[in-house]
Amino acid sequence: MKAKVAINGYGTIGKRVADAVAAQDDMEVVGVVKTRPSFEARIALEKGFALYTAAKENIEDFKKSKIEVSGTLEELLDKADIMIDATPGDTGEEYKKLYEKHGVKAIWEGGEEHELTGFSFNSEANYSDALGRDFARVVSCNTTGLVRVLYALDISFGVRKARVTLMRRAADPNDIKTGPINALIPDPIKLPSHHGPDVNSILPDIDITTMAVKTSTTLMHLHALNIELKKPCKEDDIIKVFEKRPRIMLVSSKDRIKSTAEAMELAKDMGRPRGDMWENVVWKDSIAINKGELYFFQAIHQESDVVPENVDAIRAMIEMEKDGASSIKKTNKALGIKSN
Ligand code: NAD
Repeated sequence: MKAKVAINGYGTIGKRVADAVAAQDDMEVVGVVKTRPSFEARIALEKGFALYTAAKENIEDFKKSKIEVSGTLEELLDKADIMIDATPGDTGEEYKKLYEKHGVKAIWEGGEEHELTGFSFNSEANYSDALGRDFARVVSCNTTGLVRVLYALDISFGVRKARVTLMRRAADPNDIKTGPINALIPDPIKLPSHHGPDVNSILPDIDITTMAVKTSTTLMHLHALNIELKKPCKEDDIIKVFEKRPRIMLVSSKDRIKSTAEAMELAKDMGRPRGDMWENVVWKDSIAINKGELYFFQAIHQESDVVPENVDAIRAMIEMEKDGASSIKKTNKALGIKSN
């Protein structure tokens, strides 16, 4: 039997997770929730997703726009095993009570605090801890990207210390309200940033400090990492470790991928839906051991790297697959991510 998945908040993350769930052979989308009629609502219907409204009062708006609605969020909850809550950050608490009332499991995204669920998820680092859980949070795009590389390095060499500078995209490409359009903003000014503690919500023993700068781009985040490892190693050893990971893509500037713009072009040329890049893009030729410490750059596609993690979290929480590596393989295969 397929797991019945509902999506509340059909925006940047929600619509991608819906497509990723629909691509799996062991789960199905039973409905998606929109607050207002929009082109996204129309396309959801065209894709065959049943559309529900967040509140009863909104049904009339949809009717006026001639968009067919199957019911309200509460009615959808009666049909679902699990809810992906991809509503904007900090709305989680309000919905949690409703999901609890209907006995539906739920996954929130990185805009919510760890405390909402008491459990933060990453497919490679803690899949087995998610088995059978009622509530979980898939950490943010930046944290997912950091956990993937730090976990890989920690199990291979031991991470003594990680110091990371995040150059964050200021807004998503569809966002016409957020800036800056011509500035670099230290964010937050008071260091360190929240990303380090967020990594510790999954990898509690890693000594990590982060700082972040908001940059006038919408494409991707760029991370500059400096890591002290416990075991001495060479650049090639790092490359070998990254090559074996399921969601790291090694690229090279010699291949003329020298920027986030070219990394996004690569995803489009690969025929990825919406031009998404689900993997961390690590520059192979940026990997350097200098004075005994590791340095490298990676780019993170904020709109999509958490998508496969949501699919794995569903499998773990519903206990459809006990082994994390098998779930990752299954998700990757269905999406078209090359498994190493
Ligand atoms: P978004 O604004 O693109 O989408 C949110 C959707 O929820 C919209 O369709 C909106 O209409 C709807 N919505 C708003 N209020 C609602 C409510 N009260 N009830 C139901 N639906 C409501 O947001 P997003 O970027 O997809 O972010 C969703 C979550 O994912 C947040 O926790 C965010 O922090 C996290 N996240 C975002 C990104 C990113 O880069 N966009 C990356 C990783 C994680």
